[in-house]
Amino acid sequence: MIRASCHCGAFVLEIDAAPVEITDCNCSICRRYGVLWAYYRPRQVRFARAGETDLYLWDDRAIRFHRCRACGCVTHWSAVDGSVDRMGVNARLMNPDIVRGARLRRLDGAVTGRYLDE
Ligand SMILES: [Zn+2]
Repeated sequence: MIRASCHCGAFVLEIDAAPVEITDCNCSICRRYGVLWAYYRPRQVRFARAGETDLYLWDDRAIRFHRCRACGCVTHWSAVDGSVDRMGVNARLMNPDIVRGARLRRLDGAVTGRYLDE
């Protein structure tokens, strides 16, 4: 199990396993946030401390971006549709050794929606 937390510690995630891959997406929102995404099934992720988050939705409003209300760190995204078995955790909140151990993949979310290393 690994942990991820925002800067102030109000928000702590416990995750079943370290990410094998992390994704650097160049879409309009991800490039501005500067996040690295580790994708999980929601059942793999628990909220050990669930501080208050502010939400941001845009475009088709299918995804909620959560950020800590106290320190502003983007923590994760969750699907509005509860049947979607996928969420994204900001790997920047994990220990840097964990991030270094994962394969970094670049996603062209801005144009093609495809990984650039495929
Ligand atoms: Zn915080």
